[in-house]
Amino acid sequence: RKELVRNKGVRFEQRYQIHRLLGRGAFAKVVECTRKGSEDRYAAKIIEKGSMDRKALEKEVAVSRLLEDHPATLPCVYDVFEDDDNYYVVFELCRGGELFERIVKKKHFSEREAARYLRTLLSFVAHAHSRGVVHTDLKPENVLLLHPVAADADDDKVFIKVVDYGCSNFCADGEFLTQPYGTPMYAAPEIFKSCFDKSADIWSLGVISHVLLVGYAPFRGVTPEEIKRKVIAAEYDLDGQGWQSVSPAAKAFVGAMLQTRPGARPSAASLLRHIWFTQAQESNTSLR
Ligand code: ADP
Ligand code: MG
Repeated sequence: RKELVRNKGVRFEQRYQIHRLLGRGAFAKVVECTRKGSEDRYAAKIIEKGSMDRKALEKEVAVSRLLEDHPATLPCVYDVFEDDDNYYVVFELCRGGELFERIVKKKHFSEREAARYLRTLLSFVAHAHSRGVVHTDLKPENVLLLHPVAADADDDKVFIKVVDYGCSNFCADGEFLTQPYGTPMYAAPEIFKSCFDKSADIWSLGVISHVLLVGYAPFRGVTPEEIKRKVIAAEYDLDGQGWQSVSPAAKAFVGAMLQTRPGARPSAASLLRHIWFTQAQESNTSLR
């Protein structure tokens, strides 16, 4: 195994040329860059020292390494820098933008295509859970396309990466976590009240599935408090706008994940065997 390169005394800018801002999250900004002396492009995550400690940073790198044998894991390229203000971690570059930008723009989007993305996401989560890792920040902004594709290209050829292991945590079976979770819109109800475990990722996948199938999130509101209240009350409607063209199997699939009681949610591994995946294979009806 390659060791983490800490580049003592070397500044990030000495080794990499920054090209443009790719995105911004709660803790970091991510820039596109090239390694000087080569044509190779990467994504560097720049984390302000005040917002994350070294331990959290090392955990992010460790999670990427631990899960990198799954194709949807974003590989870290083992280049880590530190100066007075920031940490810099270099990752593989995803050139295709966020998955959900693509889906929103796409005219024809079928259950078969939605199922393919969700199967990849579930397979990633099953892999993470089997290694004792809970992602805790699964949301559309953290699912990226590896390559750019034409607007109406076949989704069967699109590769996705689940990014952002900044909030991830190790949580064995029977253990619980209490640290704050990502965005309320994707957070499971128990997160606001008590501790949570792997099953919180399943809830977030339920919210993502909802977005993929009908184009909007189940829990919406003007303020985070309003969203939080709706999540706690499990106030969502699988008969609302857009659901008329969705199959009963797909609805059952989403409903299974969006259950208030954490223990009632199926595991990622068992959801991969859900009947919807067999049925959706044949369905090419447009959702939108
Ligand atoms: P944070 O921990 O602050 O949320 P993220 O790791 O989620 O930071 O990155 C913030 C945003 O930067 C992402 O939502 C995405 O749009 C973009 N981004 C992150 N990693 C990459 C990458 N490897 N390639 C391209 N864009 C990326
Ligand atoms: Mg993020």
